[in-house]
Amino acid sequence: MSNEQNSWMKAAVETRNAKTKGELQLLLENDELLGIPVIVVSGARPGATLLVTAAIHGSEFPGVEALLRLTEKLDPAEMRGTLIAVPIVNVPSFYGRGIFNNPADGKNLNRMFPGNPQGTETERIAYAITSELMPLCDAVIDLHSGDLPEDLSPHLYYRRGGTPEQEITTRGMAECFGVPYIVELPLDDKNAFSGTWYHYAALQGKAAMLVESGRQGLVEESAIQIHERGVRRCLCILGILQETLMPLAFERLSNFFYLNAPAGGLLTMYAHAGERVAEGQLIATIRNHFGEVVAEVPSPKAAVLLYHISTLSVINGEPFAEFAIPMS
Ligand SMILES: [Zn+2]
Repeated sequence: MSNEQNSWMKAAVETRNAKTKGELQLLLENDELLGIPVIVVSGARPGATLLVTAAIHGSEFPGVEALLRLTEKLDPAEMRGTLIAVPIVNVPSFYGRGIFNNPADGKNLNRMFPGNPQGTETERIAYAITSELMPLCDAVIDLHSGDLPEDLSPHLYYRRGGTPEQEITTRGMAECFGVPYIVELPLDDKNAFSGTWYHYAALQGKAAMLVESGRQGLVEESAIQIHERGVRRCLCILGILQETLMPLAFERLSNFFYLNAPAGGLLTMYAHAGERVAEGQLIATIRNHFGEVVAEVPSPKAAVLLYHISTLSVINGEPFAEFAIPMS
């Protein structure tokens, strides 16, 4: 897709005191067009630009609702700078009810950045975001939730490093967002997944983070409100809104790790998302489909359980629980 057909987004960011709705259009392998919804809220006065994305995983819904609500409520006359909201990035996965992956090509969009304009559907969506939207913004927030088989406690991830200004802004956004756990990782962490959107944006010099709020593919009010309130508070940190922020408590974590299922079968969890567990504490048992216990899984370290698989079934070898270590 030529820049010309998407040039309305740059024009909308540069227009003052307006709300503009339209689609980022991209050409698929079969020559059909895919339209990704974009809402640009441009303040009356110039300032920073924040890009917020949701539904990169198509069945993670609270961020979608949060962005639609927030863009409806914001008054451009009160803003210095711009919010670009993309409430549903992975349109095919959203309507196809995909879990983690886009049903069209079986790929996980949040492992595909920066994308490829000649690639499959998921790679082209990633490329459209990095080529058309990323150059317009100073900061990036990517909203996620527990997908259909995941229970989780609200938390976020950000990268330590980059330019001094980038690091200060990123930390400011992370600490104000309003989730109980903040997972800090080095910018060049080799153990983290590659191809994630917020990490790619951070490597390009953007203040960027990934926020998780919500669980099990539900559209729960509490999860929506955490996302909406957090983005609004970040607009204040960036100077786009001028509202007084009351501090919200959080705990800083690092060194996340996964437990992999030692067998397939029926999963019973003995720890809950958000729980602090001790070294050696029993986390889960796995039974075979005759109901006989085939594995007991203790935690190897004292840590906080951030999310876990919440279906009765568990697949042999899959990472079924994620933890991170308190920094203090
Ligand atoms: Zn996700």
